[in-house]
Amino acid sequence: MILTSEQHWVCPNCPATAVTVGADNRFHTCPGLAGLLAPMVLEGVRARVRAVVREDYVGGEDVRYDDEGRPVMSVVTERDDGRDCVAFAPTAHVRKV
Ligand SMILES: [Zn+2]
Repeated sequence: MILTSEQHWVCPNCPATAVTVGADNRFHTCPGLAGLLAPMVLEGVRARVRAVVREDYVGGEDVRYDDEGRPVMSVVTERDDGRDCVAFAPTAHVRKV
């Protein structure tokens, strides 16, 4: 007999589902979060996945925008037993003269 550790993933913001073997996480481009890269959660785990919109001035930094043109700082997953965060760190420009 061969045992597998199949995991069933769902997204609380869109109909996406996935089945993996031995994976610790699963990400997808989520239409429910305006096209952002977002984590899926294990089926049966109560969780909320939300985007955190950047509220300060963007200036000349390269930041991640969602499909609706909003600058997004991170995607946060909140579960009863903890919280995870995917950060979209801004980058700066350097120009050689
Ligand atoms: Zn989704």
